Amino acid sequence: MNWITNYVRPKIQALVNKREVPDDLWAKCNSCGQMIFHRELEESLRVCPHCGHHMRLSGDKRIELLLDEGSATPVEIPDIQPDPLKFRDRKRYSERLKEAQGKSRHHEAISVVHGTVEGHAVVLACFNFDFMGGSMGLAVGEGLLTAARLAVLQEAALLVVPSSGGARMQEGILSLMQMPRSVVAVEMVKDAGLPYIVLLTDPTTGGVSASFAMLGDIAIAEPGAIIGFAGQRVIQETIRETLPPGFQRSEYLLEHGMVDMVVHRADLRATLARVLGLLRQPRRDEKNVVSLPAEEAEKETASAAPPAPLEDGDGTADG
Ligand SMILES: [Zn+2]
Repeated sequence: MNWITNYVRPKIQALVNKREVPDDLWAKCNSCGQMIFHRELEESLRVCPHCGHHMRLSGDKRIELLLDEGSATPVEIPDIQPDPLKFRDRKRYSERLKEAQGKSRHHEAISVVHGTVEGHAVVLACFNFDFMGGSMGLAVGEGLLTAARLAVLQEAALLVVPSSGGARMQEGILSLMQMPRSVVAVEMVKDAGLPYIVLLTDPTTGGVSASFAMLGDIAIAEPGAIIGFAGQRVIQETIRETLPPGFQRSEYLLEHGMVDMVVHRADLRATLARVLGLLRQPRRDEKNVVSLPAEEAEKETASAAPPAPLEDGDGTADG
């Protein structure tokens, strides 16, 4: 035993660690190709200090970035049938799910939390791109519905951060049905008069962009994010035309009126807080009306009441 623990194990560990250390110390920017020291990259919120390229963020990091410290409370998403079609390609879908859970340390491609953004109550549904490309299946649909219901219940704003390649192919038509389902979720929030804000991150494509992601009251995008339905190459081959530079990027969409703002990652929380403050203003006024002195409040309700029921005696007016 001594020989194994003292001699063999350290040798194996040395072999394994040799590979892991450089990966952790340096990261390469996908855009400019520069090497960036790992710690420096974390400090800059995974934005390249050389060219400003916004790298993808995991769901956890995103939640940490957007919500006030210590305010995030995880929301449980109801269980769904995990592999409804018993689908199998080269591997079983159920195996792929398990692998993704192990690799990404997320239960599914969406995480839902509630918390505050500089004091404003929000329910945040955040996609995990590292979980099967953030693809939208039954669980994601369920997550969005859960988030919307909670937002209505808490009278909080709904903030969704998509980062997804689109539909979850392994769930077939059930995955496509999450598109109308997510739209219903968003409508619930809108009907309750609550703000629905979308933060479009790289990439927002496929079924996600064709449903809830483009329905935000305010659409904010991160710089350089790819946002679109079909990929650039597919469109180019279909219409046989060269697409303009920057096509399907945040800045291009801002110029063409598809998004409202393109905001640097470092300014996201402050911008969200400002937007939420502006959108929630009328609510504060409503509360002021309630807190008016009793007499004034009575006057207000009297003048606001419709006179119709008193005068409209014969009931022939309208139908
Ligand atoms: Zn770079």
